[in-house]
Amino acid sequence: MPIETSRGGASFPAGTAADVAALVELLGPAAADGRLREGLGEELAYVAGVCPQLFRPHQEEVVTRLFDGFEVGFDDMCVLLDGAPDACVEHLVRRLRERWSYREAWALAAIGTDAAHAAIAELVRGGADPQEFEDCGVWTPPTGPAQRRFSPHRRAVHRRPASGPVELLTADHPVGLPLAQVVRDPDATAVAWHYLSLRIAEIPGMPRWPTERVHLASPCGSMGWTLSAAVGDDGRWHDEVLTSDEAGGEDDAVDNDGGGGLGTVLLRPYDADLVYANWHILSTPGVFGTAGGPAIGLYPNPHCRSCDRLMFHVVTVQNYLREYGHGWRTLYLCEDCRITTCTATNWN
Ligand SMILES: [Zn+2]
Repeated sequence: MPIETSRGGASFPAGTAADVAALVELLGPAAADGRLREGLGEELAYVAGVCPQLFRPHQEEVVTRLFDGFEVGFDDMCVLLDGAPDACVEHLVRRLRERWSYREAWALAAIGTDAAHAAIAELVRGGADPQEFEDCGVWTPPTGPAQRRFSPHRRAVHRRPASGPVELLTADHPVGLPLAQVVRDPDATAVAWHYLSLRIAEIPGMPRWPTERVHLASPCGSMGWTLSAAVGDDGRWHDEVLTSDEAGGEDDAVDNDGGGGLGTVLLRPYDADLVYANWHILSTPGVFGTAGGPAIGLYPNPHCRSCDRLMFHVVTVQNYLREYGHGWRTLYLCEDCRITTCTATNWN
């Protein structure tokens, strides 16, 4: 069953141009009908995953005339509004100058064109709060246009159990590596638990990166920490810096290397084989998150500790990927400084 929505289960057809046009038509009445709006949002998440090209002809109409009925998550919005015509940018800027609304700011951040990025930079330099766009992964540097600090291409993170440590040696994307393969000095590190390593070239739209794999790992502590590390030529971390919001520091000691939960990850395309429900794909058996796209969960994206550029989002997964801690685990990088940062945030 590819889609479960509050508007009637799996009734939504596989996705033809006529189906999508019919959905768009309902956005008008949805402006005054919260239940319909929610149901349509779920169906549009399916369209974003399976047939986004069918939405493209409707971008301008949706942004300029039907926007009040258009309620989708920011990650889906980035797919549905990607490359929208400049008339959408002009309309959104006009609206934002009249009265600020985070939804219209999101839409502008989702478009991703040169015109959108020039407009965002102008708004920020004209006094708009840069955080509004940075929380969406769009950064305005001191000069020049804004930059999208995520890939518009998404892959589902599908975990399969591994038979043992030997299988991890040859896996593209292992879950549960020994710490000695993740950090240069496992005896003097805050790193305590490995979630996932990804072969970065297999995620489309990532920046150039000098090592084969990037790591997502955790210190002791279930939530509210940020762990930043420099990356050596062999991909292992050094100079780790840990900051934590949790006063007192909960001491959830763990044994990574004997901790089990070993697995391998398959990066799956968004298609009709995933389950789309509640505006996400996490009801799909084995799927724990998304590589590419913006970070999941609206939290401040980290800045690079060295150059202060907003960091590039790589992957966000649930802690269940390899059970430890609580909430989202997100990996970012700065390709200029060869620094990665992992964060742990609560469910939204
Ligand atoms: Zn940097």
